[in-house]
Amino acid sequence: MRISGAGQGNAQGDPLDSFDDSEGVLPGISEGEIIVVRSNRRKKNISAYRQGGRIVVSIPARMSKADERAMVPEMVAKIRAQEAANTMSEEGLAARVDELLRELAPEIQLRPSTITWRAMRERWGSCTGVDRSIRISDRLKGAPDYALDYVLFHEAIHLQYFDHGREFKELLARFPRAELASAYLDGYEAAETALAAPEVLKKLLRSQST
Ligand SMILES: [Zn+2]
Repeated sequence: MRISGAGQGNAQGDPLDSFDDSEGVLPGISEGEIIVVRSNRRKKNISAYRQGGRIVVSIPARMSKADERAMVPEMVAKIRAQEAANTMSEEGLAARVDELLRELAPEIQLRPSTITWRAMRERWGSCTGVDRSIRISDRLKGAPDYALDYVLFHEAIHLQYFDHGREFKELLARFPRAELASAYLDGYEAAETALAAPEVLKKLLRSQST
C-alpha cells in the first residue's frame, strides 16, 4: 500500500503543498454575527476582522473542529475588546451631545436623561421625547467623529422637535459636515446591503420555489 503524505504534511503547514486534495475551501459557517471562513491559502495563521455588522474569522482549511471551537471565541473576544477600547463611553456620548448643543443649537436647553449604545440594524439612532432617552446604533462604534456627531446632533434636536419639520431641518442644517456624514452613513448601509445579498438571494429563491 502506498502512503500519501498529503494529510500529515499539510497539517504541519508545509508551505510548498498548495496543491490540495479533497477538502477545498469549505463554505463559511454563519453563526449570526460571526462568520468562520476556512482558507486553503492560510496554513497557520488565524485572523479576525470586522466586516460591516459581522466579525469574520479566517482559519486554515485544515484546522480541526476542536481547535476551531477553542480559537474562534478567543479571536472574537479580542476583536470585541479592541472595539470596546476604541468606543466612546456612554458618559462620553452625553458630554458630546452637550458640546454639540452648546456650539450649534444653544437655544435647546434640554439634555438627554440617558444616552446608550444599542444594537440597532434599521436605524442610526432614536430619541424618545417623553423620557428624553436617546439610543445610538452600535454600528457607529468606530465611525468617524463627524458621522457619530451628526447622528448625536440629529437625535439631540429631537429632544425639542419630535418630527422632521421646518424647525428641525433648520437646526440640523447648522451641522457643518452634514453632507459628508450622510455620505458615510449611506455608504455604510449600501455596503451592509451588499454583504447581506446571499440572504436576500436565499429568500428570493425560496419565494420563487413556492
Ligand atoms: Zn429623526
